[in-house]
Amino acid sequence: MNEQHERMSDVALTEETVLQALESVLDPEVPVSIRQLGLIQGVHLDEDEVSVALVPTMLACPGREVIAEEIRQRLSQLAGERRVVVTWETRVIWTPRRITASGRQQLQRWGVVAREPTPHGVRCPYCGSYQTRLNNAFGAAVCKAQFSCSICGSAFDVLRGALRPAPAEATSQSGDGDGSVHD
Ligand SMILES: [Zn+2]
Repeated sequence: MNEQHERMSDVALTEETVLQALESVLDPEVPVSIRQLGLIQGVHLDEDEVSVALVPTMLACPGREVIAEEIRQRLSQLAGERRVVVTWETRVIWTPRRITASGRQQLQRWGVVAREPTPHGVRCPYCGSYQTRLNNAFGAAVCKAQFSCSICGSAFDVLRGALRPAPAEATSQSGDGDGSVHD
């Protein structure tokens, strides 16, 4: 093995530096940082391990594996000798309220709605009308649903976690090895 990754000193490894590093890990379906999306539930450091607990926006989200791998890669240098462990807190329910203000703005720019529907329904991000309807339950991706607006004709995506915050379905979707829970 060569020494091409210069290890950062242990002093540099804090919860905050880990969080900062995770700032550059984007959700595979919307180009917004997982930190801004509120996916990070906690970071824990000890002598042998850096563990990151995440909350999925939807239990069966296929992006989970991609995100976990990104995190491991992103943190491998910072973590030095420590193992990087990614876990999913499936008991915690992600809601759009976890998204930061900046994350929300970024989503809006991509035409993705990440708010809980009001009693009037889902609001069009372009014209503000509530006269919207669900086009396709599976939208552009499993985690998003595509809506269209009858007033301005725009199509937009709504993060599915925003529509159904508590799907209590099993995680049996795509077999094991999808980075679900490590110990
Ligand atoms: Zn509209």
